[in-house]
Amino acid sequence: MTTIADQRVGRMEFLLNLRRRGIADAAVLRAIDEVPREAFVRPEDVEQAYVDHAMPIDCGQTISQPFIVAYMTERLALEPGHRVLEVGTGSGYQAAVLSRIAAKVVTVERYRTLAESARQRFATLGYDNIEVVVGDGLLGVPEQAPYDRIIVTAAAESIPRGLLEQLAEGGIMVLPLGPQDGAQIIVRLTKAPHGLVRENFIAVRFVPLLPGRAREL
Ligand code: SAH
Repeated sequence: MTTIADQRVGRMEFLLNLRRRGIADAAVLRAIDEVPREAFVRPEDVEQAYVDHAMPIDCGQTISQPFIVAYMTERLALEPGHRVLEVGTGSGYQAAVLSRIAAKVVTVERYRTLAESARQRFATLGYDNIEVVVGDGLLGVPEQAPYDRIIVTAAAESIPRGLLEQLAEGGIMVLPLGPQDGAQIIVRLTKAPHGLVRENFIAVRFVPLLPGRAREL
């Protein structure tokens, strides 16, 4: 059995571990501290919510590893006034973390079931600056473009050009890039005045970014 005190110790360890692994941005650490990850995992995984692992969620997808959520958020260099687009809502955890720093988050998911669960979680937690859209995130959400920041949380085989068009001048996009079963890395693209600047970061493993809306729920 896990007691509330255990959970509290678990959460402190969890934050310390992120710091130890190099997450230094105070706003990111504060956002991670504020979002209860146990509200985003399956009921049977609640006791594992503050372990630094990815975990399965519905529709064969995963909630990302907290370190990766923190790492990608840090690479985004978010500011409080920013409008952010996330592709791949999944559990909603990453969007929740973004929403504690940025002004507005639009998040797109191809599975209606996942989008609806995430929407419910945000409502319960009172996170009212997140909009969940069901659709193909590869097309972005042009009605609300441009975005100051774009984060993709499923692995793309090549740079999604359509999304770049929805990125503001000077904007930043962070995504895992690489083949479905091969080496993927976190890439940051900055839309600079003289062109696109690309930086490569750490190796990761994400579920694939798939075209179109999901046929099942
Ligand atoms: N950010 C999530 C982790 C998502 S896993 C979290 O914090 O829990 C990746 C998600 O991307 C999956 O839910 C998958 O269904 C979704 N996805 C994959 N391709 C997509 C696309 N083209 N458009 C929208 N969502 C997509």
